[in-house]
Amino acid sequence: MMIIVKPGADKKSVEELRHYLGGLGVEIQDIQGKDTTIMGLAGDTTGIDRGNIEAYECVERIVPIQEPFKKANRKFHPENSVFEISGRKIGGEKLAIIAGPCSVESEEQILSVAVDVKNYGASFLRGGAFKPRSSPYSFQGLGEKGIELLKMAKEKTGLPIVTEIMSLDKLELFLQDVDIIQVGARNMQNFDMLKELGKIKKPILLKRGASSTIEEFLMAAEYIMAGGNERVILCERGIRTFETYARNTLDLSIIPIIKRLSHLPIIIDPSHATGQWWMVESMCKAAVAAGADGLIIEVHNDPPKALCDGQQSVTPEQFRSIMDKLSIIAGVEGRTI
Ligand code: PEP
Ligand code: MN
Repeated sequence: MMIIVKPGADKKSVEELRHYLGGLGVEIQDIQGKDTTIMGLAGDTTGIDRGNIEAYECVERIVPIQEPFKKANRKFHPENSVFEISGRKIGGEKLAIIAGPCSVESEEQILSVAVDVKNYGASFLRGGAFKPRSSPYSFQGLGEKGIELLKMAKEKTGLPIVTEIMSLDKLELFLQDVDIIQVGARNMQNFDMLKELGKIKKPILLKRGASSTIEEFLMAAEYIMAGGNERVILCERGIRTFETYARNTLDLSIIPIIKRLSHLPIIIDPSHATGQWWMVESMCKAAVAAGADGLIIEVHNDPPKALCDGQQSVTPEQFRSIMDKLSIIAGVEGRTI
């Protein structure tokens, strides 16, 4: 961290700041320019509150040098993280393809979609049981019954289950029955939830908040990892911008950025990012070409009758065709599908 001191700052305020910094156990190295003094802080600055330093009158501004995330940081973990989850891997050579309906609706629906996506090459089954809907009048999910149905689909197909947790009251149920616990975009900064999920051993699929910066996203992962649960899979699902044509704006540049900053796997959700089924294929192809570690795709057996997100769900046949094309693109990136 570098502290730029205001030109002509009051000497007393500078001395007070030095005294305060001395108490924080960091070393201060001065760079003396013609008009400006820069104080370089050496040592562990993680616990330092910038706001306290900026409160000194003599401080012009602060330039952070280190990223605030440690456990998620590639600097301290140069190799890619690869997680083994219920016999499948995420982050390795094989892409993780998570597919299934937005919401579990009935036994018939989830079993039919699960069998199809399994046959066409998915390695995990998604399906919401507890749904974060914008309107209280929309279908809210089948709740515990939905988890039961996902378990049936897992028994039938062998596909591990990915589903979203909405409340920590249900954590026991998720610990028993779910293979990857999804934290939705709306809960990305539910810090109490993140802390609790840090204490468990299940892998977490953490979705990026619609208005979150990449640093905020990595800090949310850091919350989980700081508690001891280092199996966090990042998921970009589009962010909110001035553009309204698509449901969200898919920020594909996050892939090379995460690959540079972090060792954690990053997957892409083209369904919530675009909000339209006809854009899903092109965004899947782009994501794989850009180096994503996997995809989470909404697939429904009868999209016009879906209880949630039918407009962005591809049919099993469309999913099959996407998978065929992805296998060629994956090869270019040295990956398999
Ligand atoms: C979902 O995956 O079902 C979902 C609600 O996604 P998001 O949290 O990204 O909106
Ligand atoms: Mn959905």
